[in-house]
Amino acid sequence: MHEFKYIKGRLYCEDVKVEDLAKRFGSPLYVYSYHTIIDHYLKLKNAFSSIKPLIAYSVKANSNLAVLKALVDKGAGLDIVSGGELYRAIQVRCPMNRIVYASVGKTEREIEEAVRRKILFLNVESLQELESINRISKRLNTITRVAIRVNPDIEPKTHRYITTGRLTNKFGIDFKSAYQILMLRRALPNVKISGLHIHIGSQITDASPYSAAISKMVDFIERLRKKGIELEYLNIGGGLGIIYNHETPQTAQRFAKRISPLLKRSGLKIILEPGRFIVGQAGILVTEVLYTKSTPKKKFVIVDAGMNDLIRPALYDAYHQIFPLEIKGANPRRTEKVDVVGPICESADFFAKERRMPKVKSGDYLAVMSAGAYGFTMSSNYNSRPRIAEVMVVKDNVFLIRKREVYADIVRNEIIPAFLLGL
Ligand SMILES: *Cc1c(COP(=O)(O)O)cnc(C)c1O
Repeated sequence: MHEFKYIKGRLYCEDVKVEDLAKRFGSPLYVYSYHTIIDHYLKLKNAFSSIKPLIAYSVKANSNLAVLKALVDKGAGLDIVSGGELYRAIQVRCPMNRIVYASVGKTEREIEEAVRRKILFLNVESLQELESINRISKRLNTITRVAIRVNPDIEPKTHRYITTGRLTNKFGIDFKSAYQILMLRRALPNVKISGLHIHIGSQITDASPYSAAISKMVDFIERLRKKGIELEYLNIGGGLGIIYNHETPQTAQRFAKRISPLLKRSGLKIILEPGRFIVGQAGILVTEVLYTKSTPKKKFVIVDAGMNDLIRPALYDAYHQIFPLEIKGANPRRTEKVDVVGPICESADFFAKERRMPKVKSGDYLAVMSAGAYGFTMSSNYNSRPRIAEVMVVKDNVFLIRKREVYADIVRNEIIPAFLLGL
């Protein structure tokens, strides 16, 4: 369910014609629907209402301050992965007891910032990290809550770049080592191990890998309880899949129904860390067709957005639907098979390959659908392209939530050494 639909042959975001946005703010452009974001958050919240979990939105999926503020105001917490994301959380005044922090490589400085702010907990991914947190907390004369990120060794059946819960992945700690660390806990008096965390991957369309992983966790929790180790939280991570093409992901309701009994059996407070599920369908990338050209083997549609704006096809071979903003009067039989490509000097710079689409021409606008998650946040200045603008639509209101960069932004932090200037 999302708020992008055709009315009389024109694509709308909520009550606004997307083409008007492209004309007003320029192309390429990210467009987000406020109500789609909130709707997906509430779907998850309602589905789990019998458990009342903390839903900590995963900031890295879409970290625009307006998006974060909208969710935090509705009661969401934030799942962060860096000091920079903690800074964003502070900017939107997220209550610190709703922030959880996971990363295999937290620096000394990042740990200190999180410890000083007293976030809900840090998800610890190695013994050395736990020792660092203990040492830093001791220096700051405090006790820091942590959760151990366990690697449950589960195959989530998704793209190999986005699996995170196999023992061959760098994430988390295996059960045996986690157990040993818990046995060591008295040697680390400045950390309090108050929970366990898993995050098995992303774009997972079926509840089975979750129930397999959570079952393992519940067994582990029961084993710990017998040893007198009482925990408070079980954080089951994010990873809920969405529809990009023909996937049939479980709905929030079905997902909740499958795993709620297990979660209740854990006896712990539950945390969810959805990213893509909340913002994925809530955003599109609008782009203008610059040229079309035919080679003896192919037809190319060359657009003004590139892999620097949306890297998912290049990075994961990801599929995104692509629709013209205007289908009014279009003859549905006048389709052709094309590659939709960007202007960047890389062959991986494409949005679709061998895709059957309505015929388009120079000057037409296209919408790359389901681009709200891992779109703008993974964008870069590659090829010295200014990063593009983001707008948020709320019914018939439009808000610019990130200005388009200008050329000066690209070179802002660069310095030519004096010797090169002949000084
Ligand atoms: C990226 C990430 C998430 C969110 O993943 P989605 O697939 O966007 O739901 C949740 N938890 C952790 C620890 C992550 O790294």
